[in-house]
Amino acid sequence: MRIAGMIQDSIVDGPGFRFTLFTQGCPHHCEGCHNPETHDFSGGSEVGTDEIIKKLLSNPLTDGITFSGGEPFEQAEDCAVIARAARDNGLNVWAYSGYTFEELIQKTEQQPEVRRFLELTDVLVDGRFVLAQRSLNIKWRGSTNQRLIDVVKSLEAGTPILYAD
Ligand code: SF4
Repeated sequence: MRIAGMIQDSIVDGPGFRFTLFTQGCPHHCEGCHNPETHDFSGGSEVGTDEIIKKLLSNPLTDGITFSGGEPFEQAEDCAVIARAARDNGLNVWAYSGYTFEELIQKTEQQPEVRRFLELTDVLVDGRFVLAQRSLNIKWRGSTNQRLIDVVKSLEAGTPILYAD
């Protein structure tokens, strides 16, 4: 898969110590994006999921993995493989997406891999970054339109349910 980078021990991408994977390629081009270098789908570097999983599991202090970007759901197949390995090893899974939960559900009709990745995600931080709604006072998000979605409950209910942190 194509990635922009990965970091260990992040404390800004969800609760606890997190392994954050920045996927490469994003179609959203939000004004004021903090990671514009991740937009180009042919940028970054090609890394195998096995190598990423090995790095993820190499740190016993890690509480979970966060998929960030870029747009992780553009590489849902590979992200699902990594999310499966994370879950199998007791790690929780967070994912950022410029797509809303509702848009992702629509995508699942044509792309079953989006469903597979969603089903392995505990919390989705959804929606594009909106510069006019930027706030430094909201946890884990950049702008107030973005939501923290409890994906397990939302898939069960068929409607977005907010994650209570
Ligand atoms: S979705 Fe994220 S990475 Fe993509 S343009 Fe918007 S803020 Fe940047």
